[in-house]
Order: sequence, then structure tokens, then C-alpha cells
Amino acid sequence: MQKKTIALIAHDSKKPEIVEWAIKNKQVLSQYDLCGTGTTSKRISEATGLNVKGYLSGPLGGDQQIGALIAEGKIDFVLFLCDPLTAQPHDPDVKALLRIANVYNVAIATNVATANLVLKDGSL
Ligand code: PGA
Repeated sequence: MQKKTIALIAHDSKKPEIVEWAIKNKQVLSQYDLCGTGTTSKRISEATGLNVKGYLSGPLGGDQQIGALIAEGKIDFVLFLCDPLTAQPHDPDVKALLRIANVYNVAIATNVATANLVLKDGSL
């Protein structure tokens, strides 16, 4: 059976949190194909040794690349740790990513609490 794919994205202030989460969940994450925006994927890959396919950095189009993958049916779950307290230059892209996930009914967690429930549930 083909592995399911998880996309990982975190805004700058949330990168330590996503890296810590990835280290904690390394075992379960190793069962999936992983991808993410440029810096997030690199940081997770370095910290865990997991292979995380990197796309462009979010502000340079990475969110849109992940969105295109969702539209193509290539993403099964997105963990997107967005910073709720800081204005983002690529806010339209952030909104577009959330929208396209909803268009295609793809699970998208915007905080670690939700991601933990999704992975623990075992239904992904
Ligand atoms: P980054 O992009 O992983 O390249 O930092 C994430 C974002 O800011 O959307």
C-alpha cells in the first residue's frame, strides 16, 4: 500500500515547536512520506534524520506549492503551525492554503493539540 503523505509547515516563531513535536513523534512520522516548506522541512530533517521533501520557503511560494499538491490529491494531512500573533507578508497564501484544504476536505491541523489527536486516532 502506498504511504500517506504529511505536509509540515511552521511560521518562524513556531519552528521550535514543530521541531520538538517532530522529534517526539519521529517513530510515527517515519511511517509516512513527509514534505514541507523550505526552512521547516530542513529544520525537521536535521533534527530527526527523517527524509522531508522540501519545497520553496513559505513567503516565496512554498504554501502555494503545498496547496497545489492538495489540489492534485497528493497530501493526506497538513500540520500548519501558524503564528496567530504576528502579521505575515504572505497572509493571502496562508488563507489560500487553508481554503484549498477545505475545498478538498483534507485534514489540516493548525496546532499541536489537534495534530496529536489526528495521529493518535490511527485513522490517518
Ligand atoms: P518556511 O515557510 O518553512 O520556509 O519558513 C513557512 C512559512 O512561513 O509559511
